[in-house]
Amino acid sequence: MNTRAVVFLALLSLCSCQQNPHVPAAVDTRLSATFFDVGQGDAALLQTAEATIVIDTGRNGEIVQFLRQQGVTHIDLLVLSHPHADHTGGLGAIVRSFPVTELWYAGDYRGKLRQMFHAARIAEAVAAGKTKTIGRLSLIVLHPEPGAVNARGGESDVNSGSLVIKASYGESRYMFPGDCELGCWEELFNLHRSDLRADVLKAAHHGSRNGTSSGVLGNVRPTTVIISCGRNNEYGHPHQIVLVMIQKLGARLFRTDEQGTIHCTGTDCRAGA
Ligand SMILES: [Zn+2]
Repeated sequence: MNTRAVVFLALLSLCSCQQNPHVPAAVDTRLSATFFDVGQGDAALLQTAEATIVIDTGRNGEIVQFLRQQGVTHIDLLVLSHPHADHTGGLGAIVRSFPVTELWYAGDYRGKLRQMFHAARIAEAVAAGKTKTIGRLSLIVLHPEPGAVNARGGESDVNSGSLVIKASYGESRYMFPGDCELGCWEELFNLHRSDLRADVLKAAHHGSRNGTSSGVLGNVRPTTVIISCGRNNEYGHPHQIVLVMIQKLGARLFRTDEQGTIHCTGTDCRAGA
């Protein structure tokens, strides 16, 4: 074989290694979950190749910058677990900054939402049984029961009226219970016990003792627990007893107050976005 033929064949083999231009570049098929360090509050992002979902917004507009850093340009579904400011304070900034296709909330505070932002027309009050599937990502609302929430109740009632959302993607299951207190969990044990199992649990109510019990951990059986709370917050979250319970369970623990933003791929979590 002469030199020219060798060069030709080498070039040919190189070309055959090139990607077929008619086949799209490999798409990352894993679930990505980010728990932002928003101080004393909650804000999480779920991203797949097909879906962008935000669950709670933190206390203020800093969430917009955080979402942009994660490449967010639109939001398919924005979920507000309950109307306290540490979960909804960034709502106005988000809807001014991104197109939002759908918004879920619990309870009867639609009037408040209307005052807060013009896009209230996309807002839908949802309750247990509501589901949504985007590609391989599926969401189910496990709490509250239809008609059960009165957002005019006390702080504790509002917490326990939180939307509790379970997200599943392949083998990865995440539980987002908002600030669900123990009464809310009792209802979940009674009505949805078989649905509570999840790999990653966002601890309810910022790691408060009124949001996590051995019963909660025994039913959810998480391998990873994320606590979203502020450094030296005035409530003493997370409570020591909760940390001990998580340690006893043997689950991996991540805290936004100590480690900043927590990022997970599938169910593999690490500190740092
Ligand atoms: Zn809260």
